Amino acid sequence: MALVDMKDMLHHAYENGYAVGAFDLVSLDFLEAVIEAAEHCRAPVILSVAEPHFAHYDFELMMPAVEAAARRADVPVAIQLDHGRTLDSVIQAIRLGCNGVMLDATDRSLPDNIKATREVVELAHACGIPVVGEVGYVAGQEGEGAEQHPGETALTVPSEAKVFVERTGVDFLAVSIGTVQGRARQRARLDFTRLKQIRKVVDVPLVIHGGSGLNEDQFRRLTTMGVAKINYFTALSDVAAETMRARMKQDRHGSFTDLKKGVKEAIREEVERCLRLWGTAGRAAEVLARCRPQTAVESLLLFDISGLEEDAGHALLDKTRRVVCGVPGVRDAFVGDAIDDGRGYRHVLRIRFASPAAAESFPDHPDWQAFRRKVLQPRLGENLSLTFRAAEGAAVNGQTDRSALSYI
Ligand SMILES: [Zn+2]
Repeated sequence: MALVDMKDMLHHAYENGYAVGAFDLVSLDFLEAVIEAAEHCRAPVILSVAEPHFAHYDFELMMPAVEAAARRADVPVAIQLDHGRTLDSVIQAIRLGCNGVMLDATDRSLPDNIKATREVVELAHACGIPVVGEVGYVAGQEGEGAEQHPGETALTVPSEAKVFVERTGVDFLAVSIGTVQGRARQRARLDFTRLKQIRKVVDVPLVIHGGSGLNEDQFRRLTTMGVAKINYFTALSDVAAETMRARMKQDRHGSFTDLKKGVKEAIREEVERCLRLWGTAGRAAEVLARCRPQTAVESLLLFDISGLEEDAGHALLDKTRRVVCGVPGVRDAFVGDAIDDGRGYRHVLRIRFASPAAAESFPDHPDWQAFRRKVLQPRLGENLSLTFRAAEGAAVNGQTDRSALSYI
């Protein structure tokens, strides 16, 4: 199981002067390429799903594949929501398996950005999930020509960064020091003096957006100055598109699968170049040894409901499931009827949580408390409540054992 705590992962990078890449995925080609590159270079990696890209794929359908890839990988992996727009996107991302989230409220005033980010931090921390906040604004749109979406770059002001981190409690801070999202016409000029000032007043790992197009020297300086995570997408998108264009020239009548031949390999090559450049290659073993695994937790409530006809009983079970699933930090819930007599417990409610912290805070959630007290409790007969964490080293839901695969 290689899904690890993102905070532990980035602190290892921060303390050892290298940066972990957070590569945005827009298709399975990207997912496979990033994982293969990380495994080949023995590097920790962050699989990144960015809300602005949800127009290109179905977030809910994509996440089971991303999570399966993370769990199957033999290098440490984290999964992050990138550029989340609202508290609801953050709740959904945690439910679908992200173990790090970013709120991008940089289009709001500083006080509003602080307020929205603080709200996300409170919720995510109760679910055991770390948060990236951003202050200042990195103009542009990932994957596109930056000049098409110029916006107005606002460089991060060190004193604002300090206030932002103190008031929000974010775990990592994305800063704007001269990079752009997307393809720039010329190489970005980075304001290292500003970065140094920010680092002096802020003691959390820093994050750079718009990593595409920077040179070796720039990357090296960034990683020695507190930057522990680099978000990277445009260059991957460009090498993928370039590969398809070249194929198209050779083979004007090629099918879709013909035309995308070589795309995955091209992405993988670019990811590997980054992993070597940023000092991430070869770090997998020490990161795995130092980071807590992202532990799966499940709870079981075995119970009996009394005094209800079968239909009303099932309606109550369904309502219970819906209330439970509405609580942040719950991944999903199952309600069922005993097949045999259930030894006196005719029903079960099984809840899968995002983390041990999410399981711990669940009983105190006001929606669940109110429902349990007013609706469930009066009907609840015999019951037994149990909570389990995944046994260390054991496979969890959705994890594929590669040794088993070789028999297929
Ligand atoms: Zn970005």
